[in-house]
Amino acid sequence: MNIETLCVQGAYSPKNGEPRVMPIVQSTTYKYESSDYMGKLFDLEEDGFFYTRLENPTTNYVEKKIAMLEGGVGAMLTSSGQAATMAAVMNIAGAGDHIICSAACYGGTFNLLGVTLEKYGISTTFVDPDAPLDELQKAVQPNTKAVLGETISNPSLVVLDFDKFAELAHSNGIPLIVDNTFATPVLCKPFELGADIVVHSTSKYLDGHACALGGIVIDGGTFDWEASADKFPGLTTPDESYHGIIYTKKFGKAAYITKALVQLMRDMGMTPAPMNSFLLNLGTETLHLRMERHSENALKVAKFLEADPRVEWVNYPGLESNKYYPLVQKYLPNGASGVVSFGVKGGRAAAVKVLDSLKIAAIVTHVADARTCALHPASSTHRQLTDEQLIECGVKPELIRFSVGIENADDIIADLDQALGK
Ligand SMILES: *Cc1c(COP(=O)(O)O)cnc(C)c1O
Repeated sequence: MNIETLCVQGAYSPKNGEPRVMPIVQSTTYKYESSDYMGKLFDLEEDGFFYTRLENPTTNYVEKKIAMLEGGVGAMLTSSGQAATMAAVMNIAGAGDHIICSAACYGGTFNLLGVTLEKYGISTTFVDPDAPLDELQKAVQPNTKAVLGETISNPSLVVLDFDKFAELAHSNGIPLIVDNTFATPVLCKPFELGADIVVHSTSKYLDGHACALGGIVIDGGTFDWEASADKFPGLTTPDESYHGIIYTKKFGKAAYITKALVQLMRDMGMTPAPMNSFLLNLGTETLHLRMERHSENALKVAKFLEADPRVEWVNYPGLESNKYYPLVQKYLPNGASGVVSFGVKGGRAAAVKVLDSLKIAAIVTHVADARTCALHPASSTHRQLTDEQLIECGVKPELIRFSVGIENADDIIADLDQALGK
């Protein structure tokens, strides 16, 4: 089936007389007829639900659907995107290990790796995504366990050079983890481009309605853990907490995602609520339509801004003038998603005036949902920084992050036009 059909019907196919719509299974626990059977579930000898911290039927369907959309072998939903990135890394890295991450990454990822996981003994080198491969190779250490990047980075809108980052990872016997939040599987399929693990903040386009926080880790089943067995003992040597099972031996291609679920989810409990999984599923049913319209509208908005003399600069990778346009043609041929950033003439004060004058576009911290929204980092998320510090971290004082929704593009542009007029 094609991705449009999978978005609408993937994973859930009711049998005779069952609910047409995937139900919300609002139950923490599941009943069994014998304690012997229950024991087999705990030993991972039988497949089945026993406690919603680990698995829940509603959550399970959505995991299967998103795994199908991405073309992976299995997936694990989490309570937020942050939890997904955390689990993706901690599943293969521990104290004394090292991670390489593109410096063009989400602020939450930067803090998770650079601040919090650092305290638990996992260190990270942030690399310039535009550096040539031989330069990037210098960041690799004997204890490096993964390379991370974002398909389209939030908020800097850098497009990942998949060939280069996959080569960096695979030539060193380690997996490439890609955050595909901004592109979604509708616009980009990282597993076809060399990624081994994909993560999402489902709070963004996958939900698409800004109503349920969530995240997901998807396993491509592509990485040969046994070929790098010395680097990944957690997957290739016995897990004493499950009577000595070896994940690669018992679960084959699904070793990574099975370990994430039965070990990390069991012990850390960043579980999504069944209600949120249900809402996420509703979002995915229209994902293919929304991503098409987000991309179309964003391109129109970016072209309008680029031609407007009141605007100093525009950053949208789908514009032919953009530095990453060749990578968009190569990896995102169906659209460059919905987020545009731009700077107005007149600096910080003018940016605030434009933002406050917008009527359709709401001022919110969120990005990537059906409604157009905007944010001025210099007066919100980055307000403690001086203009000089802002420029140093790549956020110009006049920068407006504009998340183009699926309303009528002419209305969005008219709103921007009147706000720029103020
Ligand atoms: C929002 C976001 C996250 C974090 O997700 P939450 O659901 O907010 O925890 C991670 N990566 C990217 C690219 C994001 O945009």
